[in-house]
Amino acid sequence: QVKANGKNQIMYYENIINEITNENYILLKELRYALERNEMTLNYQPQVDSRTSEIIGMEALLRWHHNGEQIPPDRFIPLAEESRLIIPIGEFVIDEALCFLRELQSKDIMVPVAINISVEQLKFELIYKQIKRSIERYAIDPKYIELEVTESVIITGREEAIAVIDKLIELGVRVSIDDFGMGYSSLSYLKRFKFHRIKLDRLFIKDFPEKDNGHIASLIIQLANSLEVEIVAEGIEKEVQKEFLLTRGCNFIQGYYYSKPLSKESCLEYIKKSLKIIE
Ligand code: C2E
Ligand code: MG
Ligand code: MG
Ligand code: MG
Repeated sequence: QVKANGKNQIMYYENIINEITNENYILLKELRYALERNEMTLNYQPQVDSRTSEIIGMEALLRWHHNGEQIPPDRFIPLAEESRLIIPIGEFVIDEALCFLRELQSKDIMVPVAINISVEQLKFELIYKQIKRSIERYAIDPKYIELEVTESVIITGREEAIAVIDKLIELGVRVSIDDFGMGYSSLSYLKRFKFHRIKLDRLFIKDFPEKDNGHIASLIIQLANSLEVEIVAEGIEKEVQKEFLLTRGCNFIQGYYYSKPLSKESCLEYIKKSLKIIE
């Protein structure tokens, strides 16, 4: 009887696994057509200096509208990475974001844009050519472009990935470490290339103050300060979190507290309002 039970158990899991892979398979099939069907857009989430409420940057976040639904990036980006579809999708993101940057700069609005880059994209020199081409096409000063890479990119990424990042830095673009603190305890990689900013992961602030005393967030801010790199806190939803970070030396904030990710048009409105407050 025990045996039969065990077998049922295995069949049960096999069914679940089949269902998951089947679902992914269907989604992946659809993902292949997402670009040509114009189902992809970019949203932009403002990054704000909490001392002045001035916008200091924005992060481009990809959205997939499919069959009347929004498929979250955490769902489709891994599929895109596994299937290499991330290469054309990533190229779309770069071109789209830099096109928006051009639009802003032609209005004399100089706000940098941050673009998420997958490790899969860094395995090829192609991304260097893609970025260079878009920079030239839109006549953008590269210092307004920030590439967000996660710790895993640097650690699991082979030497080629580091070499590509180095080439991009030489081109004048900036590089941030996304989801900082999430991946690895090894800090040795911090010495491997000249990044300009750390993004404090939402994990270290989301439960503050109720279930988190903020000690780890404070420590990471101190680390950024002593490395003399900027730090942006992600996922700030509450005033008390923003205030706490300010007392600890982190005044660059990205989160629903200031704004959710916005359409291009709404982001432009946000920027204009933010500039008016400053004047
Ligand atoms: P990420 O780069 O760490 O982006 C931050 C995520 O946190 C975004 O989720 C954003 O909407 C969310 N967020 C921002 N503020 C708050 C807040 O106050 N509260 C909460 N609960 N969430 C907040 P999103 O847009 O769903 O993106 C998820 C991940 O997908 C991104 O994490 C990034 O790793 C990836 N991703 C998004 N767009 C792209 C892209 O164009 N290329 C690549 N390779 N990855 C992308
Ligand atoms: Mg990011
Ligand atoms: Mg992040
Ligand atoms: Mg993330």
